[in-house]
Amino acid sequence: MPLDISAALRLPGTEVPFEHRVDLPEQDVLGETVTFPEPALVKGTFQLSGDALIFKARLEARARGACARCLEPVDHRVSLPFEEAYTREDQVPGEPDPWEERLTFTGNRVDLTPLVLSLAVLDLPLRFLCGKGCAGVPESPACRTEETNNEETSADARPFAALQQLLTKHQEE
Ligand SMILES: [Zn+2]
Repeated sequence: MPLDISAALRLPGTEVPFEHRVDLPEQDVLGETVTFPEPALVKGTFQLSGDALIFKARLEARARGACARCLEPVDHRVSLPFEEAYTREDQVPGEPDPWEERLTFTGNRVDLTPLVLSLAVLDLPLRFLCGKGCAGVPESPACRTEETNNEETSADARPFAALQQLLTKHQEE
């Protein structure tokens, strides 16, 4: 849903605080499918300055890809500040410039989706990894997220510890 910017049009030069959610479609990034499980959040201010609508805001989003080694789903948090200016479309003189993708708005609504999508995709890691220790083997303990990995490593990394205890006990008898 486009953002209503009529408050900025009524009060040029005033920074208007806003909070807006943007649904992001799934993306094909270097052959990998990246989804956005919930709408991205954009929070900050917009201000009309001449024919430009200036955004100073922060983007928060969650991108989900597959671990490059074990293919388990991995979430990447996007959290970045940005500053962008939209130009009023009916004020752009002449033909559209094919070399420059201008951010434009008409009337009192702005669709933030293309901007938010490109900011989010630029922030994605080169490849998703579920954890630093991912060994690439499905169902391996190392292929879980780092939080759970740390808790379970000690038990799972030594599968022969229980056997060792049995052997020791047997020798003592
Ligand atoms: Zn993995």
